[in-house]
Amino acid sequence: MPAQCAWCGAAQIDGMDCRTLHEYLTGYDFTPANAVPHAIHFLQVTCFMVQHERYSDEALGWAQTMLRAHLDAGMSAHDLRMYVTSRLQGSDSSTRTWRFNRAPDARPLPKIAWEITIADVAQRMGREATYAEVVTRWAHATLRQMPALLA
Ligand SMILES: [Zn+2]
Repeated sequence: MPAQCAWCGAAQIDGMDCRTLHEYLTGYDFTPANAVPHAIHFLQVTCFMVQHERYSDEALGWAQTMLRAHLDAGMSAHDLRMYVTSRLQGSDSSTRTWRFNRAPDARPLPKIAWEITIADVAQRMGREATYAEVVTRWAHATLRQMPALLA
């Protein structure tokens, strides 16, 4: 039995846990030819944080709004940039009154059987789809399941 992640339930890949995979994907040295757009990077980090219970309740609400905005196909790149900028002003650490990081004594979050985990992303990228496509699918699945965290 491969070791399972205590947070998202993913099985380790070749001894690599989710945190290792996350660091690998975040720091992955993509060549300019297939550079990862900022939006894809954002989705990857946000999905990891959501599935690993790193966010406070307020940050989960923020993440849900941001995922929805990123995945809304009707939103142009320009609109998205405007939207993100306006939202980020409210999430600036100097002006916001809530914390991103989940406090150790915060209410326990319900366990969710995530349809797609970071381990799935790492295994599928470059095989059945590009990295951007796999991450986008991950974000859709995460967004669909995350209301259970906020209930
Ligand atoms: Zn995990």
